[in-house]
Amino acid sequence: MNRPYNFSAGPAAIPEEVLQRAAAEMLDWHGSGMGVMEMSHRGKEFIAIYEQAESDLRELLAVPPTFKILFMQGGGLAENAIVPLNLSRAGTVDFIITGSWSQKSHKEARKYAAQVHTAASAEASGFTSLPDPASWQLSRGASYVHICSNETIHGVEFQQLPDLQALGSDAPLVMDCSSHIASRAIDWSRVGLAFAGAQKNIGPAGLTIVIVREDLLGHALPICPSAFNYKTVAENQSMFNTPPTWGIYMAGLTFQWLKNQRHGELTGIAAMEQRNIAKAQQLYDYIDGSQLYLNQVAANARSRMNIPFFLRDASRNDAFLAGAKERGLLQLKGHKSVGGMRASLYNAMPMAGVEALIAYLQEFERHQA
Ligand code: PMP
Repeated sequence: MNRPYNFSAGPAAIPEEVLQRAAAEMLDWHGSGMGVMEMSHRGKEFIAIYEQAESDLRELLAVPPTFKILFMQGGGLAENAIVPLNLSRAGTVDFIITGSWSQKSHKEARKYAAQVHTAASAEASGFTSLPDPASWQLSRGASYVHICSNETIHGVEFQQLPDLQALGSDAPLVMDCSSHIASRAIDWSRVGLAFAGAQKNIGPAGLTIVIVREDLLGHALPICPSAFNYKTVAENQSMFNTPPTWGIYMAGLTFQWLKNQRHGELTGIAAMEQRNIAKAQQLYDYIDGSQLYLNQVAANARSRMNIPFFLRDASRNDAFLAGAKERGLLQLKGHKSVGGMRASLYNAMPMAGVEALIAYLQEFERHQA
């Protein structure tokens, strides 16, 4: 039996091959007599799992050797505190507000950073567009500039990372890429630090990935908890305290799955990116051409990963969701703060799932006529 298609924004669908492999190895990993959850994080078995995951992620995302990859806990929201604790240096930090997640990050930073400055905000547009980088009011000498490169709730994604130097700022770019990491290539020349909770595109909740340029380490505020001090975590290969071992293992299986993906001549993330473009395009095209459904995000800001849409007749929402569930299309309800629907098309969602969704959208629309 085919599993239903799961459009959850996170925790989200995991590739079936990954789940099956984890199930097969649950009681005995590679003849060790132990399941991964039962292993010491300092034993040779787990160290092998960890090292493979780290090097596969580095290869997949082409992370330069000048960056450390950290496997932490706390999720995206903890990073909203951990980043200013490590990087604000008691100075000014700049925020670009493009939706709920950057808003939350901004609010949390005010507890730790000496000055928090809103350099640009798209709030006036109802978060349906991205402020043009040329209009950003960046502070001189800022410790960093924070963006959320994919706003999971509003469905807004930076299609290009800002070039801060070209905008006259020497500050490192910090990006919350929780909901589109591993869906596209990253231009590391524009990034100081990237963080992401794993539970959308990488694996189970509980693992947070931080990729940070080495020169940014070692400047934490004295109140920074040791377990959240990036330098301490880096010096201990993410094992200053017990890391989320199961999450790292599952992430490693996902990285191997990603490395095996093909699209024409392309492999890995490049293959995935082309597929993600095609999936999102099909769904946006259908929504834009329909009389019933609506997505209000500006064309150049539309997310490939999270596609919120509304029924023009909101009284049909419950019927829509019930019909979707009957057809094996799960978790399409929009975030409570914006309402309507949301389809998350992470890497694990195949094109067939998008086609099944579009077929249902069509069927439901026909029945409205
Ligand atoms: N940032 C973004 C972009 C997110 O989508 C989420 C979760 N939906 C978070 C941060 C918060 O992550 P967590 O719940 O793991 O703290």
